[in-house]
Amino acid sequence: MTNNSVESLISSSDLGVQNDAANDVHSPAAATGQAGDDSCAVDLSALEADLQASGDDAVSTTLIGPINDSGFAAFGFAPELLEALATIGYLEPSPIQKAAIPELLLGRDLVGQAQTGTGKTAAFALPLLAGLDPSQRTPQVLVLTPTRELAIQVADAFNSYAAKMPQVRVLPIYGGADFRDQIARLRRGVQIVVGTPGRVMDHMRQGTLDLSGLRSLVLDEADEMLRMGFIDDVEWVLGQLPEQRQVVLFSATMPSEIRRISHQYLNEPAEITIRTKGSDASRIRQRFITVNGPQKLEALSRVLEAETKEGVIIFARTKAITVTVAEALEAKGYDVAVLNGDVAQNQRERTIERLKNGTVDVLVATDVAARGLDVDRITLVVNYDIPFDSEAYVHRIGRTGRAGRSGDAILFITPRERRFLGGLERAVGRPIEPMEIPSNATINQNRLDRLRQRLTEALEHTPGDEQRDEERALLSEILQRVGQSQRQRRSAGSGRPAAGRG
Ligand code: AMP
Repeated sequence: MTNNSVESLISSSDLGVQNDAANDVHSPAAATGQAGDDSCAVDLSALEADLQASGDDAVSTTLIGPINDSGFAAFGFAPELLEALATIGYLEPSPIQKAAIPELLLGRDLVGQAQTGTGKTAAFALPLLAGLDPSQRTPQVLVLTPTRELAIQVADAFNSYAAKMPQVRVLPIYGGADFRDQIARLRRGVQIVVGTPGRVMDHMRQGTLDLSGLRSLVLDEADEMLRMGFIDDVEWVLGQLPEQRQVVLFSATMPSEIRRISHQYLNEPAEITIRTKGSDASRIRQRFITVNGPQKLEALSRVLEAETKEGVIIFARTKAITVTVAEALEAKGYDVAVLNGDVAQNQRERTIERLKNGTVDVLVATDVAARGLDVDRITLVVNYDIPFDSEAYVHRIGRTGRAGRSGDAILFITPRERRFLGGLERAVGRPIEPMEIPSNATINQNRLDRLRQRLTEALEHTPGDEQRDEERALLSEILQRVGQSQRQRRSAGSGRPAAGRG
């Protein structure tokens, strides 16, 4: 088979998941199994809106028309798979699905450059499910993921697509979970295993995971596995697989090491690239502050005072710096957590949960520890230390601006590091704006804004009965005075010194 490269480059206006004309023209191998070489540009913001829209329509979808009308019927999927897709509200395949599914159904190897949010999980899960032999009880599909969270998420996705296929068994296996329980479930028979490399290797070495009947291996978020130091494990697993197997590699970025793996282990893979240009990055306002090393802690505390944020992640270069920064912030009254290589897996889970539920607002982390972290309420990323390379920068700022929200990223850069700025700007395809260390005036203004907001909320929540009238009147008066004070400050351009944290 020939090596074909498909790069998706459809402009936002002419591509929607439901825009059949655009999709037919640009989707390379859709339905025909032919590899096309059209160039198409995918603006993910348009795609996300479409995915969202089709997801929201889940109920009406099942009511409108027979399932064979769905865009997925063209792939020749069995009725039980189409039925499950109709139930969860997938109307039309997303661009990566249109491009990848026919290739995978043909049994080809595939390299996909795409991020979370493109529909990449279904792009590999659906064709691999379609090709499954449910009567064979040993694993036919193995998916390796960098984190246990992703393993669970991918296993859940497989289960939802296989909802009408009761013979299909999916098992997530990852470290920290009960080993014996996993062995028992493997013995009972599973066709699809989704796991983290370390635990998968443990089972293979012990002979409890029999991969002799494996048909397909998926490396999901391969660049994350590389960054987390799993690449030797991944190569070990690749080396143990049957000669005849399909390998699918998905990665958000393509560092040279991932390219090497793809050349070494994949057989003339189809290549699909979904560009995220103008999507995630455009929702993130990126700024930099020039600051000398010894000034960084002061600059950080001013940034946190001046920016009203829900959740914040601060990236530091070393474990020691994460601890120093966290201690300094704690002393100023912040609820801070640390995530570095010394934090045990179960503690890590708890920390992420606390960040999600708002018990902790500020997380200080190293790159490796924050891999794959997906918390919607992160609205600010501070690069306390410049990342090692531009890919790490892209990953770091991608912790904010999630789930369609906007986000802020602020990079601390020493005068000597200024020369690296151009490289980062090229990686994100846009300029990173300069910013000053927030002044006392800015900080005070922000405090008044927050106070006003709290008073307004208190007023809204105070019932309008007679007993509480006095309370309401008092709150309104304070609110008015705060407003006046703010107006005076603005007109005077006041620069009075900031008081301690209030
Ligand atoms: P992923 O990139 O695999 O993490 O998927 C992103 C989100 O899009 C998930 O919530 C999927 O359930 C959803 N999704 C994937 N494919 C489709 C589709 N064809 N139609 C609607 N939603 C989809």
